[in-house]
Amino acid sequence: MSTPHFETEAIRTQIERSQFLEHSSPLYLTSSYIFEDAEDMRASFSEEKERNIYSRFSNPNTSEFVEKIAKMEGAETGYAFATGMSAVFSTLAALLNSGDHIISSRSVFGSTHSLFTKFFPKWNISHSYFKIDEVDAIERLIKPETKIIFAETPTNPGVDIIDLEVLSEIAKKHKLILVIDNCFATPYIQNPIKYGAHLVIHSATKMIDGQGRVLGGVTVGNADLIREIYLFSRNTGPALSPFNAWILSKSLETLAVRLEKHSENALKLAEFLENHPNVQQVKYPFLKSHPQYEIAKKQMRLGGNIISFEIKGGIAAGRKFVNSVKMCSRSANLGDTRSIVTHPASTTHSKLSEEDRLEVGITDGLIRTSVGLEHIDDIIEDIKQALS
Ligand SMILES: *Cc1c(COP(=O)(O)O)cnc(C)c1O
Repeated sequence: MSTPHFETEAIRTQIERSQFLEHSSPLYLTSSYIFEDAEDMRASFSEEKERNIYSRFSNPNTSEFVEKIAKMEGAETGYAFATGMSAVFSTLAALLNSGDHIISSRSVFGSTHSLFTKFFPKWNISHSYFKIDEVDAIERLIKPETKIIFAETPTNPGVDIIDLEVLSEIAKKHKLILVIDNCFATPYIQNPIKYGAHLVIHSATKMIDGQGRVLGGVTVGNADLIREIYLFSRNTGPALSPFNAWILSKSLETLAVRLEKHSENALKLAEFLENHPNVQQVKYPFLKSHPQYEIAKKQMRLGGNIISFEIKGGIAAGRKFVNSVKMCSRSANLGDTRSIVTHPASTTHSKLSEEDRLEVGITDGLIRTSVGLEHIDDIIEDIKQALS
């Protein structure tokens, strides 16, 4: 058989069946595993044997989930975490030493920004930010202490796109580790390793779960780097729970079909918004008007499910819009079957100064929409009545 396709791997990658010959992978709720004898135990602990010892290190459900994500991303191996943030923190903390420096896009998830600005300085780890439209300036930020380039694409909540090929060329030239938070794209839409990224991180809480049920995170990539991340994590304990791993692995079986439909709905809504008189600007990767449309087309299979748009009338209009939706949810989550609207300027990013907010593209009337799987006519109808 030729190399199976994405959908096939997502469904047919399964841990070994037990003596009950179950069709679907069972849930292994066990904190530890037993050994045949003292020699088996010695060989397992010295890693002469690859097997489960304790569920902080590994668990069959977690292994199945990681193996699927690794195949989907074209990665050698990986490790799964309790949340997306524990994946981001543990990945970076495992690889960085006191005195090291990170270069990152300024448009990163809020807690990642807090990690760089509030917590890493405690361990003498510094950072420099580049703006989305200044990728060419990255080389000027490189110092002798620089170790990692970190970026998200598409960005949250601005839905800006960064050229993975350009980042990877810079990382290669200067022997830096390129780490991509691929949460918004999912492994179905974009595979950063193909472009030269060393590590790919996901918050599995979002589209990978896809139904707003459990938290999870995962990092996949280069085996030597994952080994360091594994050793750090096995000792510090951010492991994913087997129950969540079981849910997330089952979710991956439908990732492809879900993303096709999410993206189809999102494109239709984006086209509707683009023609609405109360909307100033719409940003969706697969709209021709997106400033980085060509890059999006190059590195993404589909546009995904997140749209950002600017409503006319500033902060007050943004709040009014959020208050006026009837079906869409007001929620901080995204990547759910249920469509969700948020107004970052008055919520998630309200603590930023106006200048900082505008620098990451969060204008007063910006609305972030996570387009769900309800019928597109119902989604458009709700957004339409809220806009008027
Ligand atoms: C949500 C999110 C995270 C954090 O994930 P959690 O599972 O909530 O910890 C990290 N990066 C991006 C881009 C996200 O959207």
